[in-house]
Amino acid sequence: MIAYNLVCKDGHEFEGWFANSTVYDSQEKRGDLICPVCGDGSIAKAIMAPAVKTSVTKAKGRNVVGTPDEQKKLRQFVAGFRKYVEDNADYVGPKFPEEARKIHYGETEARHIYGESTVSEAKELIEEGIEIAPLPTDPGDLN
Ligand SMILES: [Zn+2]
Repeated sequence: MIAYNLVCKDGHEFEGWFANSTVYDSQEKRGDLICPVCGDGSIAKAIMAPAVKTSVTKAKGRNVVGTPDEQKKLRQFVAGFRKYVEDNADYVGPKFPEEARKIHYGETEARHIYGESTVSEAKELIEEGIEIAPLPTDPGDLN
């Protein structure tokens, strides 16, 4: 079996499986190849794109990662994670790098904190061996 990325004259791309390239050639000559999107019969081989291992599905011309159900679960996870942090950690705002260091070096009570830092501040903390993690974006921002 051989797989070709095919494209109709309207630019719809789809995958066609053939026993071998001769079968493809004869089906193409007979006009047996039909675009599954618009039914167009002018089909050509598309330029092969490198295989990418993601669950990207094409829907109405826009790329969507995962099914709607998976996206819902992701939003619930992000919301749950934020809530956990907000319930269990002290908000220290822009003093986050300073507080994180104090906790790491035992200068203040060990506890979970969250707050803001710049990317370079976060990098410095990681380089010092301080465990930090970015807080996921509010799920409302994803829509
Ligand atoms: Zn088409």
